[in-house]
This record gives sequence, structure tokens and C-alpha cells, in this order.
Amino acid sequence: MGLLLGAYLIGLSLHGTGFSLLVDGWLGLAAQYAPAVVCWIVAVRTRFRRGTVVLAAVAVTSFALGNTYYVVASAAGATEVPFPSLADVGYLLFYPLMLVALAVLIRRRLRALTLPVLLDSAVGAMGASAVLAVLLSPVLESAVAGPLSLGTVVAIAFPLFDLLLVAAVVGIAATQVFQSGRRWILLTLGLLVLAASDVVYALRLSAGTYEVGTALDAGWAIGLALVAVWVDGAERSPAGAERSQAGAWTLVVPAAATAAGLTVLILSSQKQESVLAVALAALTLIFAAVRTQLAFRELMKMNDLRRQVFTDDLTGLPNRRALYADIPDRLTNAAGGRSALLLLDLDRFKEVNDSLGHDIGDRLLVQVGQRLSGHLGAGDLLARLGGDEFAILLDDAGSDRAVAVATTLHGLLAAPFTLAGIAVQTDVSIGIALYPDQGKDFRALLRRADMAMYKAKGARTGHHVFVSADDRHGDDRLRTLQELRTALSRDELVLHYQPKVDLDTGEVHGVEALVRWHHPVRGLLYPDAFLELVEEAGLMREMTNLVLRKALDQAAIWQVRETPLTVAVNLSASSLMDADLPERVASMVDERGLETSALALEITEDFLMADRGRGKAILTRLRDAGIQIAIDDFGTGYSSLAYLRDLPIDELKLDRSFVMPMAGDPRAAALVASTIHLAHSLGLRMVAEGVEDAATYDRLVGFGCDHAQGFHLSRPIPAADLERWLAGRAEAALAV
Ligand code: C2E
Ligand code: MG
Ligand code: MG
Repeated sequence: MGLLLGAYLIGLSLHGTGFSLLVDGWLGLAAQYAPAVVCWIVAVRTRFRRGTVVLAAVAVTSFALGNTYYVVASAAGATEVPFPSLADVGYLLFYPLMLVALAVLIRRRLRALTLPVLLDSAVGAMGASAVLAVLLSPVLESAVAGPLSLGTVVAIAFPLFDLLLVAAVVGIAATQVFQSGRRWILLTLGLLVLAASDVVYALRLSAGTYEVGTALDAGWAIGLALVAVWVDGAERSPAGAERSQAGAWTLVVPAAATAAGLTVLILSSQKQESVLAVALAALTLIFAAVRTQLAFRELMKMNDLRRQVFTDDLTGLPNRRALYADIPDRLTNAAGGRSALLLLDLDRFKEVNDSLGHDIGDRLLVQVGQRLSGHLGAGDLLARLGGDEFAILLDDAGSDRAVAVATTLHGLLAAPFTLAGIAVQTDVSIGIALYPDQGKDFRALLRRADMAMYKAKGARTGHHVFVSADDRHGDDRLRTLQELRTALSRDELVLHYQPKVDLDTGEVHGVEALVRWHHPVRGLLYPDAFLELVEEAGLMREMTNLVLRKALDQAAIWQVRETPLTVAVNLSASSLMDADLPERVASMVDERGLETSALALEITEDFLMADRGRGKAILTRLRDAGIQIAIDDFGTGYSSLAYLRDLPIDELKLDRSFVMPMAGDPRAAALVASTIHLAHSLGLRMVAEGVEDAATYDRLVGFGCDHAQGFHLSRPIPAADLERWLAGRAEAALAV
């Protein structure tokens, strides 16, 4: 096909005037039949199963047949070939056949097209048609001007078919359906070349300047050849392999078409253009306007979506995604070239969630967000990372400012929150990483702030600025989890004991056992740093057993030394699932020859929240075995004492968030006094937690509270230290 086309082109270039049998006859026909043959070969190869291929083959053949008639008539007759003739039937059939082929081609993909794409396509089609209508207007006018005859109809049919074909091709190009398909470009080019040849031919003919055997004649052969190459390629590439590819390209066709439509309208205002051209141009602009309106709405929707995507539903703060999107820019544009990333994690959030329900937990997070955002500068960014984690990026902050802000925020969150009438106390641990010294990008910074946060949590310092040593310790959760498993087997967990002082006599009859982890690298860790993990790793039952064993061993030692102390052990809410706990505990006490009164168990209110019936049953069995039960952190879980009435308990431990503000706040003091009174009226002992100074101690004595526990008396300490502390106290009492 290529060779024949080449020969024909060379022939045309050497062509003199007039009809040449060799060039215009033999070579011209051969150059047009070759594409037809190619199409038929493909049709046979595909067993006539592909509609597009068969239609294209028929179309190309029809064109070639039409041309055969024309050539034969030209060669035979001295006079001009009449118009219209059988040749025009062949030519004209080509267009509807190709249009149907195009329709078949895109039919399958048409359903997937969205309205904007269809509009793009309409804009493209109308714009191209408007331009073509202007170009063809002399032809159309002269055709319409004459009396209506078959000749006029055929004369108008050609440019109209060209118009349709160009509109279809440009319209499809605008849909981007075949954007990346190079073959599609071949077809587009082929059809455009054919249409262009038609237009030039028609113009020359109406101007009386057409001559056979010029380069124009090659246009049809080239167009048909391109169609044949496309047919061949389309058959080889599997259907659907050509993928649409959005991008700047999407706009090219509609934009060019709109510009074309506009140009046509402007031209028409200066020089009379045909009604068809003006109507097409007007349609182009109408479609374009609708498309713009649609695009605008899409943009608004996208903006809205973007906002939603970057906002935390609960608190309305920016979320993690927003942080990732925003921070790189903020870091590079940081004032003074420095920033600080603060990572905040609430300390007892899980407890709040478990005991008070997610609704209250959510409210707490909202209020925490509000408190935090009220205290940040305009250039600072606050975001919720998820769960109980917040992040703050401080602009132009070094270590000093970061620490100052952390201290302020820590104090700010320490004040109790009132949630649905319940006072909730929460604490926060803040990890700080500095840009650019401790991380050049956000990820590195976040990792280090995270390590610093865990350090702060473990060491209870409230906040911690990252130092390189933290990295070596790799305070990474997964690692800790692994280490935790070995900690249990390697006996790295130890107990510290905090005394409970009898406010009546000043004597100590009981202690609370509090677990600590002697981490081989990170040193002594407090429960906040690992209890959640123990729970997550499903190791709580194992840990509770270990704590019970150690506490009871210690109680046995004290009993042997004739300084018996009741040891209180904390039970987690998940112990409720441990059905044989009461019997196990009883036999552990029994094995050591201890009185059952040597052991007390502290549970929090969430122990009962999860499954009240089950909780009550377990407590009853424990109580029946002679073991004392205390409700820990009392006041943080429930506002009512009523439900305690039918529970088998001995003691309430008033949470330190009520006790600590007592000294300076008369209302807090009054609340404590009435709570003590209520406890007594229910026949329960009251222990005040968190007694940090003498004034509080004295007031509690005045209120008739039973026991006090707190740093003012003693911090939790190892058993040996406790024994010394007790001995010192006994001496002092004697000395008085
Ligand atoms: P808790 O049972 O309420 O224990 C009292 C906590 O308050 C202890 O923290 C103690 O160090 C602290 N504390 C005592 N006096 C004061 C004071 O005057 N001021 C202040 N600010 N704090 C004081 P610790 O040892 O970190 O324990 C935290 C919590 O971890 C415990 O709260 C308890 O719920 C849990 N826990 C501790 N040991 C165990 C255990 O062996 N098993 C289980 N399941 N939980 C445990
Ligand atoms: Mg306790
Ligand atoms: Mg407590």
C-alpha cells in the first residue's frame, strides 16, 4: 500500500496538465484499492466479527469503486463526467458507512461517559462544524442558490457529510476516550485529510479552478490509506487497551473549539456568514457556557470535598492528612527557619472511653481541642492525629518556647472537664521535636516527637524534648510490645508499695501495690507507659497473676515478721473475663498461709460498667472468700453513689482530682466532705488519694475521712524502703 501510494505521489509530482491514464488512472486507482484490500484482509482475519472493520472495508471499497467509475468515464469520454453520476454514489456511501463505523466503535464506551465529557465533545463538534461551515459557505450558497435538483442535493450532501464527519471526529477526540491510542490519531488524521480534500475540491470546483492530476488528488488516497492502517492496528490491539488519560489535554479540544466558535461569531458581525455557520458557532458557545457552569460547580464540590477530607469530623480541627499536606510548606517557610512539633497524647483517655462511654470520650476530645486552640498563636497549627493524639506545629520556636508552651498546655488540660455533669480529669504527655535540628522533614520530626512523647509518658515528666539518646532506646511501640513479653518471663516487673495511713490513729495497716517495669535500657517505667500495651497484647491475665503472686509473697513476709499489712492489688476491667479468678485468688492466699484479710482488690468503675451482672457475681464470690473490695478512682466514673448500694464492697478511694484542689477551693472541699458523709451512710470506708500536703491531710481528718494515701505521706516505694519508712515513723511516734 505504501509503495503504491509513493508511486502515485511521485507520478502526481511529475504530472503535466490534463488527464494521464498511467498516473490518474492506474496508479490513482491502485493507491485507492490498496487500502480497500488491506481492510478486507483484516476483515477476513477477524472472520468478519468486528463490525467496525467490516464497515470500514465496505466504505473504503465503495469510495474506490466510485473513483473507478469516474476514472473510466474520464478516460473514455472526451467530455466532462456528468454530475451527479454513479461515481458520486460510491463517494457518498463512504460517509454514512464511516459514521456508522465510528458509532459502533465508541458505542461500548459511550455509556461510561459523563455529562461534562459529553459536553466537551459537543463543544468540540460544534466548534469544528462552525469553522467548516464558514469555509464551505461559498459551496453551500451556490448549491442552494440554484433550482432544487438531484445535483443540488448531492452537491450539498458532500459538504454536510464532511461537516458531520469532522464534528464526529473532533467530538470523539474531545472525549479523551482514545487519547493515548496512537491508532486513533491515525483515523482522525485520515478522516480529516479526506474532509479537507473534499472541501478544497468543492471550493476549487465552485470557483472553476479544479484541475485533475494535482497534489489535491493525493489527499483522498492518503486519507484512505490512513484509515486502512488504523483498521489494521485496531484489530491487533485488544479492545479497551487504549486507555483514556486525563490531563491538560482534556481542555485543548473544547478550548480551541470555543475560540473557533467565538471567531466565527465575531467574523459574522463584520461580514455576512451563513445561517448554518452562525447557528453552529452559537451552539458551540452555549455548550461551552453550560460546560463552564458545570466545571464551576464541580470545582466547588471538589473544594468542599477537600475541606472535608482535611478536617477531623469530631473536633473540626485539621486532621492527619491536613498535617501531612500542610507541614512541608510550613517547615520550608518557617519564620526564623525553625519550628517545633509537639505531639500530645492524653494519659487516661482509654479509661474515660471504657468507663463513661464513647460519647463522653468524644466530648472530652472536643473540649481538649477547644482548650488547646484557644492558647495558640496565629502562626501555629493544631491538628488531631486520631484517637487521643493531637499535634501542634509552633512557628519560629526553639526549645525554650516549645517547653514553655508545653508547660502551659499541660496546666491547661489538668483542670477537670465537665462532661454531661461529670467531672473528668485527664493528663497529657507531650513529646517535642525541633526543626531543623532533629528532623529535616515532617516524617522524621513526627517519629522523634513520638519517641519523646513515650519518654514523657514513661517518666511522667509531662513533656520531653527529644534527645538523640531517645532514638537509641527506640521507644517504638512494636519493640516495646516484644519487650513486654520477655519482661514477664524475665521478671522485670516489680512492685512498689504506697502506704495508706489511718487518719484516726496515724497508723499504717495497709499498702497499695503498684506495678513498675525495670526496663533494661529505659530504666524504671510507670504503668501509664505500658498498661495499655499489656492489655493490647492480651497479657493482662498473666500480669495480674504475677502481681498477685509478688504482692502475696510480700504480705507473707510481713506476716512472718509480725508486722502484717493488708496489700491492695489493682485489677483491670478485663479481669472480669477471668471466670475462675475468685477461686484462684483464694487458693493463692491459702497456699501462703495468709489470712484472707491480707489481700484487698481495687477495681475501677468500668469493671462494673462492662457487664454489671457478671461484675457483681465475681465481686460477690471474692467477698465471700473474705477478700476486701475497693472502688478505685472513685468519682471519675459515676456521679451517683446509688448503684454502689447493692454491690459487695468495703471501701471507696476518692480520686485525686477531687482531693488535690481541696486546700485552695472551698467548693471542692465541700464536695469531698459530703462524699465522705455519703460513703459512711452506706457503710463504706473512705480513702482519699493524692494527698500532697499537710493542709489537705488536716482537712481530711476534720471531715472524718478514714484513710489517706499520697505523696505527702510517701510515694510508692520498694518494700525494703517502705519497711524503713515504717520504722522511722514508729520511732517518731514513740518520741512524741
Ligand atoms: P491507682 O490505683 O489510682 O494508683 C494510684 C496512683 O496515684 C499511683 O500511680 C500513685 O503513684 C499515684 N499517686 C499516689 N499518691 C499520689 C499523690 O499524692 N499525687 C499524685 N499526683 N499521684 C499520686 P501509678 O503507680 O503510676 O499507677 C497508676 C495506675 O496504674 C494506678 O492508679 C492503677 O490504676 C494502675 N496500676 C498500677 N499497678 C497496677 C497493677 O498491678 N495492675 C493493674 N491492673 N493496674 C495497675
Ligand atoms: Mg489503685
Ligand atoms: Mg486511684
